[in-house]
Amino acid sequence: MPGPVLRVGGIEVMEFLDLSMAFPFDVFFPQQGAKPFEPYRQLYPASFTPDGRFQTYAQAYLVRAGGRMILVDTGVGPGPHDWLGGARGRLLEDMREKGVRPEDVDIVVFTHLHPDHVGWNLRYEGASPQPTFPRARYYVPQADWEFFAAPERVGQWGTDRTVVPLRALGALELFKGEVRLAEGVTTLPTPGHTPGHTSILLSSRGERALICGDLAHHPAQVDQTSWVPAFDTDGAQAIQTRNRILDMLEAEGLVAVFCHFPPPGFGRLVRLERKRVFRAL
Ligand SMILES: [Zn+2]
Repeated sequence: MPGPVLRVGGIEVMEFLDLSMAFPFDVFFPQQGAKPFEPYRQLYPASFTPDGRFQTYAQAYLVRAGGRMILVDTGVGPGPHDWLGGARGRLLEDMREKGVRPEDVDIVVFTHLHPDHVGWNLRYEGASPQPTFPRARYYVPQADWEFFAAPERVGQWGTDRTVVPLRALGALELFKGEVRLAEGVTTLPTPGHTPGHTSILLSSRGERALICGDLAHHPAQVDQTSWVPAFDTDGAQAIQTRNRILDMLEAEGLVAVFCHFPPPGFGRLVRLERKRVFRAL
């Protein structure tokens, strides 16, 4: 199965789903709770469970550009994950079903270092961890490295197991600001959700798309940009960045790609009865 593919000029973006998960709204969005989300249920049915919780997903994206294969994020990981009721990630299975092998990946780049974006980085089968993507350089936003690999946080977020060993394995590449990863593929700092949160700008033959990471978690946030999840490091900065980037995506007609929206996770921002709406492609 080829699976959902987005074409941006000569660039191809393939979506992988690691797993789906559900949370009570008042846990994920403690400032809002469930009620303000209700009016969006009809518009985004796949982002609600039947019993009114937040239904969400963990995606990764493979970008093929200029002869390179770039994996954006690596999902929640193999698990089983106790905090998700024993769920297991199926990123590698999904890749295999779509004809992509771990050794095909040239670059892994992270939107940020939260545990649901770095889960498949390493395999713990033998005496020491090995990179799951054996040929890849792993590109980590430096500001996130400084934050999540700091001694007081490295254990709390699991970074000690998922990210830090990449350094000793010689696979780690720290980056800052706008970096060109391949022809038409550039990193774009979008801080707030985490200090180094980064989006990936794709540009080819006059077409553009932005892999936005966790700029929004629930599609209602493209309209309600001031709704802040519990996990934003700097809520005020996250709102500012969300407004700036989503306004740009809407005004300039870019395709927006999110890491927690219902699969395939890519679409356009359009106006519908004065609301800004995410319309999946
Ligand atoms: Zn996330």
